[in-house]
Amino acid sequence: MKKTVLITGASSGFGKATAELFAARGWNVIATMRTPQELPGTFVTPLDVQKPETIRAAIDAGLTRFGRIDAVVNNAGYGAFGVFELTPDEKVREQFEVNVFGVMNVVRAVLPHFRANKGGCIVNVSSGAGVFALPMISLYNASKFALEGFSESLSYELGALGIRVKIVEPGGVITTKFGERSAKEASLLSSGIRDYDSFVSEAHQVFAAMRASRSASKDSTSEHVAEVIFEATNDTSERLRYVATSDILPLVRARRQTSEDEYMAFMRASVAPKPPAGP
Ligand code: NAP
Repeated sequence: MKKTVLITGASSGFGKATAELFAARGWNVIATMRTPQELPGTFVTPLDVQKPETIRAAIDAGLTRFGRIDAVVNNAGYGAFGVFELTPDEKVREQFEVNVFGVMNVVRAVLPHFRANKGGCIVNVSSGAGVFALPMISLYNASKFALEGFSESLSYELGALGIRVKIVEPGGVITTKFGERSAKEASLLSSGIRDYDSFVSEAHQVFAAMRASRSASKDSTSEHVAEVIFEATNDTSERLRYVATSDILPLVRARRQTSEDEYMAFMRASVAPKPPAGP
């Protein structure tokens, strides 16, 4: 019998590539989007992770169409970019509404079905930013760290019910609409505090250098991330985390395989803008 996956944020980037890959590999695909547009080989239905009633409706529509859901890919998300103090409270909350509470909303809505089936798989798309912190993305970092902690703990309580939880951690992929949204979010911030100007301009240089190194990383593509999401979904082992692109491996290794002091020294040397010289 064909298996069925529901994917959030399937209008572009990783979500779209993942929907196309699962369909090509013979799965039924419920491709959910805020603004539905045709995606060949998939069943498209509206879903906004900030609106629980649309999540319920999308799950019901998928069940009516296919009878069963075997896996959910929580992919919808975006990255707020900019200095924390310049970010209004509603933007702080929106970052969490989408990247954290949105995922929780989807998980809560699908669990009764998974429990009735005594099985299912939840794949949460985190980020390198769920593993290590970078300057200028404190809110995105906070949201993905929260998602990692939520997913790790959830894996114990759902594992006991035969439901698998997986975390996929991509690095930077510039061919999605992620950068466009981050730039738009940054443009909405106030620029009223000049004290941050030199930090911001140095941070931009750090990001430019990271982008340059990333273009050398051949697996930084949506198609590759989709492959890793597919692998994670089909992996019946207890493995929780899947680093999806090789550009972030040095930072992930520093975080996970060196001491706290070594990690922080490495990060300050490689990604932190230099503090101003003392008086
Ligand atoms: P993308 O092309 O911008 O795709 C993001 C998707 O999320 C879009 O389909 C977008 O829909 C959807 N979305 C945003 N807010 C939503 C909401 N409230 N409800 C439902 N859908 C919503 O970016 P991407 O790079 O593929 O990002 C996908 C995931 O990968 C995100 O969780 C992101 O944090 C993560 N990630 C990305 C990168 C990267 O460098 N690209 C790296 C690591 C992790 P609309 O079209 O309606 O806006």
